[in-house]
Amino acid sequence: MKFRDLNRQYQALKPLISQAVQGVLEQGDFIQGQTVRQLEEQLAACVRRKHCITCASGTDGLLLSLLVLDIGPGDAVFTPDFTYIAAANVICLTGAQPVFVDIDPVTFNMDPRDLEDRIEAVLKAGRLRPKAVMPANLFGLPADYDSLQPLAAKYGLSVIEDAAQSFGASIGQRRSGSFGTLSVTSFFPAKPLGCYGDGGAVFTDSDRLADRLRSLCQQGQIPGNKYICREVGCNSRLDTIQSAILLVKLQAYDREQAAVERVASIYGMWLRPHVQVPDVPRGMTSAWAQYTVLFRDSRQRNQVKEALRQAGIPSMVYYPLPMHQQPSFCSTRFEKKHFLHTDYVTERCLSLPIHPYMRQEETELVCTVILEALALSEKEASL
Ligand SMILES: *Cc1c(COP(=O)(O)O)cnc(C)c1O
Repeated sequence: MKFRDLNRQYQALKPLISQAVQGVLEQGDFIQGQTVRQLEEQLAACVRRKHCITCASGTDGLLLSLLVLDIGPGDAVFTPDFTYIAAANVICLTGAQPVFVDIDPVTFNMDPRDLEDRIEAVLKAGRLRPKAVMPANLFGLPADYDSLQPLAAKYGLSVIEDAAQSFGASIGQRRSGSFGTLSVTSFFPAKPLGCYGDGGAVFTDSDRLADRLRSLCQQGQIPGNKYICREVGCNSRLDTIQSAILLVKLQAYDREQAAVERVASIYGMWLRPHVQVPDVPRGMTSAWAQYTVLFRDSRQRNQVKEALRQAGIPSMVYYPLPMHQQPSFCSTRFEKKHFLHTDYVTERCLSLPIHPYMRQEETELVCTVILEALALSEKEASL
């Protein structure tokens, strides 16, 4: 069994993907061009935003978002303690300082109450200017934007939505990709909408930010003139071949999302009585980038992980190390504090195989192995 079986998706879409790639090879416009524009238009329409600017990766999208908001030395950017490291890295790269925020232990997303505490603490210390908040929609579930957005407004912070794992998720009628001043997604192959290499995109409704982002992605050049640059930029573009592949995958997305929803509901039915399963708050949908459960303690988690491994079932600890424990940030002078919930979750979490092409009997096998391992661990504990 595979953790995320990309080959099955490829087999299902093979004729269309071959045709799309072949088309680009015949046409020969490998950088930018019509196919990239077409993808950007469709993606913007999907999440109902005015602009979509594709770039070379989700990480680049986050970095470009900070640059276009002129965030740099002396600025504080608030980001969850429990997430993939990209957000914290790019904040450091701009010279700004990441301020890590504890998570909600049920949704695994940024805790708005802790965010307010952190903002107040930064203001009180008086060393940094609070400039932006970069919440992640972890494992595909949107963060609590109904609380985060008013808080950001209250303190004058921009919101940069890290939607790398949540393309296709929603809160009511609103789609992930529309919750930030700038919203960023990733097309890394294993993400809900993935290409066959690296890729990313930034969404915004602002003409001014969109125009400047396009320029920043291409060395800071003025529109229409490659060799005159108005500011310092970089080279961050989505390849035409990847765009063509994404156009095919976008067509299959709704059907795939319905399939992955079924896998999640089977897991929920089997596992809910025994472990903490993901709880999607009313009115939200998840893109199910991961299906992450919590066990009683790290010992039980590791026992189950080992039992799954012996049964040939891959599982992952996302994430084994929260930001405040990353060696690379140990010299960063971030505000020291105890991260109660991230420490709790990192010890107990385990992500199970999930993807749109997972068969019902495979999902049930994962559950059976977990339940057997749990029964064994209970028996051991009672001896
Ligand atoms: C994958 C991911 C990123 C980075 O995206 P890349 O395309 O791999 O650079 C950023 N944030 C989160 C939460 C991610 O999962």
